[in-house]
Amino acid sequence: MPTRYIDKYDFTGRIAVITGGGRGIGLACAEALAQMGARIVILERDEAIGADGVAKLAAQGAKAEWRLVDVTDEAAVAAAAAAIERDVGPVDTLICCAGIAISGVPAEDATPEQWRKVLDINLNGVFWACQAFGRFMLQRQRGSIVNIGSMSGIIVNKPQEQASYNASKAAVHHLTKSLAAEWATRGVRVNAVAPTYIDTPLTRFGMEDDALRTTWIEMTPMARVGQPDEIASVVLFLASEAASLLTGSIVVADAGYTSW
Ligand code: NDP
Repeated sequence: MPTRYIDKYDFTGRIAVITGGGRGIGLACAEALAQMGARIVILERDEAIGADGVAKLAAQGAKAEWRLVDVTDEAAVAAAAAAIERDVGPVDTLICCAGIAISGVPAEDATPEQWRKVLDINLNGVFWACQAFGRFMLQRQRGSIVNIGSMSGIIVNKPQEQASYNASKAAVHHLTKSLAAEWATRGVRVNAVAPTYIDTPLTRFGMEDDALRTTWIEMTPMARVGQPDEIASVVLFLASEAASLLTGSIVVADAGYTSW
């Protein structure tokens, strides 16, 4: 029997949790996984965003729900993981997408609050989710985690200053590799995607600024930004059985940005 490649993308009967899945890249990931048959649980800290994301998914025929969780609250993340395992079922797919950026702040002017906020959400939040859901996955020896890093974890963006964001994403990449190495023989794969600029609310400040947008595009070999579905396609691959040999990989989806 030849390998049936299409079956590797079948998520029927599987449960996928997506932090920050109510909009932007996270919502696109939810749509991609739902189209392949997964049942979706979104974690959001904002009620309107969570409800809106689930309404959009339901309108597409997806099985989706959301829970109010701030990923910086490790106890809330652990409680959500336990509740979802109990009420919904075994989670074998986790996408850590919740993140923020504080841009245009020179390092010498950054306040302790700004620095801590970005690291707390972008790095600590990813760790709490990986740990909470990873513990259940390790018990079953089955799971795939995809963290959303950034090309900002590889290069320094120009011209907007955002040291906290860049450092947080470099840390997400190395956290991904660290977890991947620890869990590699125990059935849990951990990978990350490093996107270029993607057209979402997070980058609106730049998309609406002619000078900033022009610089971004001029520095990108493909001369364009990306769309959320172009990142969701990579996340879907990494989450799926098609990526069974990948763990600890940081897949750069950057329209060529880091090539120059
Ligand atoms: P969005 O702002 O559209 O989506 C991020 C979502 O995460 C929002 O719904 C946000 O809600 C939620 N969120 C933020 N903080 C928390 C928290 N503490 N707990 C729970 N949910 C939270 O941004 P994107 O879709 O663009 O970004 C998704 C990920 O992709 C981020 O990690 C980002 O850094 C990364 N990325 C984005 C790129 C881009 O160009 N857009 C490029 C490279 C990486 P709220 O309004 O409450 O903050």
